[in-house]
Amino acid sequence: MGRLDNKVTIITGGASGIGAKMVELFAQEGAIVIAADINDAAIAAIDNGKNIFGMKLNVMDDANWKELVENIVEKFGKIDILVNNAGISSEKPMDAITVDDWSLMHNINAFGPFLGMKHVSAVMKENGKGSIVNISSFTAQIGMGLNAYSASKGSVRAISKAAATAFGKFGVRVNAVFPGIIETPMTAVLKDSAAYVESMVKATPLSRLGQPADIANAAIFLASDEASFITGSELVIDGGFSAQ
Ligand code: NAD
Repeated sequence: MGRLDNKVTIITGGASGIGAKMVELFAQEGAIVIAADINDAAIAAIDNGKNIFGMKLNVMDDANWKELVENIVEKFGKIDILVNNAGISSEKPMDAITVDDWSLMHNINAFGPFLGMKHVSAVMKENGKGSIVNISSFTAQIGMGLNAYSASKGSVRAISKAAATAFGKFGVRVNAVFPGIIETPMTAVLKDSAAYVESMVKATPLSRLGQPADIANAAIFLASDEASFITGSELVIDGGFSAQ
């Protein structure tokens, strides 16, 4: 028996990195997983037609979310878990960020999770239960110099708290996760700078970078009934980096 048996779960950004690991580990725990991603070729490749289904989603598109949720409810009758994980990153300095850069970052990283919560919470409220896990970043809590990115992730932090407060009485929990540097395609560029990686590892009490499973395992716990009294919480997963 798994910890998420028959829980219908949407994982956005399920085609790569942390999201792809979540798809794998949530399915291992018995969940019926919808890997929702803009990269339709990648989600088609992981769709097994049994317990992992790839569905195309652009998280910043309101109509797209509405259609996705309607399709899932028609096919499975419910939605138990939503993991808002899709995101993009950029390291432009403040004076180089354009209006379009700022808008795209916020539309995907912050407006996306908002839309997901808006559409999915309606179904969860009707069922009287549900669990939402939003993936923020440790850069929302400390100054790491990623300006538009950190701001968008700070927004995820704030809307997670707001949603936890508003949805509690309907039995819907909302928690946020704050990963440190995790080795994924998003951070592959760091590989070009061995000195930077070494300095980050040195500055991390647990002396390593994070792996996608570090985040996926925490998300499984928060999504599961084991966390039934946890809402509005903030779980930092960065090897102790920001604890110093
Ligand atoms: P990744 O680049 O490997 O994967 C991101 C996924 O999001 C991709 O599959 C991509 O296609 C999808 N995506 C992008 N735009 C989308 C859109 N508009 N609609 C739907 N899907 C879209 O990144 P990752 O490292 O696995 O990051 C996952 C999440 O974790 C992100 O929100 C990221 O900000 C957050 N995070 C990552 C790290 C890290 O160090 N890797 C640290 C803190 C937070």
